[in-house]
Amino acid sequence: MRIAMFGAPGTGKGTQAEKLVGTFSVPQISTGDLLRAAVAEGSELGRKAKAAMDAGELVADEVVIEMIRERLAQPDAQDGFILDGFPRSIKQAESLDVMLERLEQPLEQVIHLEVEDEEIVQRLLSRGRDDDSEEVIRNRLQVFSNQTQPLINYYEDQGKLVSVDGTGDMQAIYDRIVKALDR
Ligand code: AMP
Repeated sequence: MRIAMFGAPGTGKGTQAEKLVGTFSVPQISTGDLLRAAVAEGSELGRKAKAAMDAGELVADEVVIEMIRERLAQPDAQDGFILDGFPRSIKQAESLDVMLERLEQPLEQVIHLEVEDEEIVQRLLSRGRDDDSEEVIRNRLQVFSNQTQPLINYYEDQGKLVSVDGTGDMQAIYDRIVKALDR
């Protein structure tokens, strides 16, 4: 299984990716988690990423692309993976395609979780993470619509996009995703 979870912040990508890991035994690869770990470690990469993360902006493409390149080379990613929060820009998607083509392991499907903006704001405010102030949340949504939303057409053109209703209870959403997976 080689898939990516796609959706605005707060649509539940991470939660659903985690559930899929339990069923399909492939690793969840979350650039958000990798970046938070780098920040916590205080590595150079973490220092570079922190300002962008605090402001709800995207971390530079080169930084996350390199991070993904290294992560995909790990042994546990050789039989598949669930990308969570990557790619988030056309540049990232194109680089990923090149990387995976070289490995003859193309992405199979992109699961697009659809949730209305106002519901997202409410969900994120109740999550209470450091970068979850209302101002930063609104900025993340703006960044999503400017830089990440174009990926909908990108993957639609490749015939890989699968849109799933991301509202309702967690199990219902999960069942919709599994049903939508082409396997
Ligand atoms: P997330 O946990 O996916 O919501 O990510 C938290 C923050 O990490 C985002 O608001 C971005 O600042 C940064 N981030 C995560 N993934 C990416 C990515 N693929 N490209 C750029 N920045 C990212």
